[in-house]
Amino acid sequence: MQHIAFIGLGNMGGPMARNLLAAKYTVTAFDVAETPLAAAVTAGATAALSIAQAVAAADIVITMLPASSHVEAAYLNAGGILGSAKNGALLVDCSTIDADVARKVATAASNAGFAMIDAPVSGGTAGAAAATLTFIVGGPEAALEKARPVLSSMGKNIFHAGGSGAGQVAKMCNNMLLAIQMIGTAEALNLGTRCGLDATVLSNIMVKSSGRNWALEVYNPCPGVMENAPAARDYSGGFGTDLMLKDLGVAATAAHGSGSATPLGNHALELYRQHSAEGHGKLDFSSIIQLLARSSTQE
Ligand code: NAD
Repeated sequence: MQHIAFIGLGNMGGPMARNLLAAKYTVTAFDVAETPLAAAVTAGATAALSIAQAVAAADIVITMLPASSHVEAAYLNAGGILGSAKNGALLVDCSTIDADVARKVATAASNAGFAMIDAPVSGGTAGAAAATLTFIVGGPEAALEKARPVLSSMGKNIFHAGGSGAGQVAKMCNNMLLAIQMIGTAEALNLGTRCGLDATVLSNIMVKSSGRNWALEVYNPCPGVMENAPAARDYSGGFGTDLMLKDLGVAATAAHGSGSATPLGNHALELYRQHSAEGHGKLDFSSIIQLLARSSTQE
């Protein structure tokens, strides 16, 4: 069985690595934080002390890191992946990052003799745990085909968006839409409950009406409506507000660079920036409903 190096074992990487172990891959894990690394070891991975040690014997290297700067450093720095991976290793970055950075890293990988794909995911922590993620891939077709069996152990949908960076462009568009939908959903629920409706009753109506969307279906931002959503556990785990803010920043930069009008994306960025500045950056992004509640009571 192939040997996989998994770097970044947070809310997403942790359960993804567990699914690789369940599929009988040999996994060497590395994270700068002790707790997620220890959890991966408990699940059956071998801990590495550095990126270089993690990737030395790996056939496939998977990274699941917070943002562009972490990915750039992990691949390009001295002691990083490109300087330490074995010949012929396949490189798969599942983080959500700027498409330009993805292309830069993929070019450096190619110059160093490695095939690389960007493979950001959709589906959240529940999808990561259930191995039902959607992979949105950019890069050479042949590299995707080589990665496909491994990706299939962690997800159920695999899309090839185009060349290097194309996966990140598609993911950026999806997350800008998700942010807008989450704020819209939170606004509707905040309005309805302040006008006297029960949040579950209103949610059940809208999920069968034309306001239906993913947040209402599986990720309701109101506590007490869905027992498995982050709202049910004080917005812990899930997809952090600061990570959504990062994605909206990536979208804003791309919108500026391409001359695209994204008024709602820009407004979503401002609201998430405010929520983070008020001290809630680590809470799941559905906690944006609390910003609306705070703003409402001030009026
Ligand atoms: P997270 O913050 O929970 O996990 C990131 C992990 O990377 C942490 O454990 C951190 O210690 C580790 N890390 C940071 N720098 C490192 C380094 N140099 N070497 C090794 N480990 C390092 O984040 P997450 O929620 O797992 O998200 C990871 C990526 O997936 C992000 O790009 C995010 O935007 C994307 N994403 C998240 C979700 C979600 O629902 N959480 C969904 C889709 C995509």
